[in-house]
Amino acid sequence: MLSEVFLFLIGCIFGHVLPRFPVLLMSRGRGFNTHFPPHPQPVPLGPHLNQRILHLRTFYWLSLVVAVLPLGLGLASVRWGNAAFGFGLWLSSGWLVLSRLQTFLGGLSPPWSRSMAIELQMIINESSGERACCSWPTPVWGVTEVRCTNCTSTLRKMARPDLGRKRTDGRVVGLLRLLISDGYPIITERHHLQLIAEEE
Ligand SMILES: [Zn+2]
Repeated sequence: MLSEVFLFLIGCIFGHVLPRFPVLLMSRGRGFNTHFPPHPQPVPLGPHLNQRILHLRTFYWLSLVVAVLPLGLGLASVRWGNAAFGFGLWLSSGWLVLSRLQTFLGGLSPPWSRSMAIELQMIINESSGERACCSWPTPVWGVTEVRCTNCTSTLRKMARPDLGRKRTDGRVVGLLRLLISDGYPIITERHHLQLIAEEE
């Protein structure tokens, strides 16, 4: 009985982690982050940041494709292998698929989106036009807001999601944090939800 529970849990963990591999791994290498200051420092706005957000958005949706693997493995395991392990795989990867798809039914929007990249581009445009905050605007994205480092004015209240940089809170803790947060900003989750509510 105990070993069944253990196998079920292992299945759950596999099904949870496997589809998230693209987001967890694909942009964390040092070579991928030469254009960004190390985590958790503020990130300057610009084409590199926009590109990174669009990449992470792709990785996020890629998890739906990758989820086919644990789903198939789970099915095979239920039929021919260990049912508890297979059920664990099914449950967690099925949950992932459902929770991602609920975006289309008016659920929580993904941590990275095209509209986010557009919003950042708008801030760049504003700070190079007549509505600029100062003569030498240098917008950066801090943890909770986009601000100008030159005149320290807040340009936009928006919580920063994980940006695919190698996390400085250590490999294990960083990984756990990402698995729990799923890329969403952690500290200001409520604020993030507020922003979404205001948009609608
Ligand atoms: Zn300024």
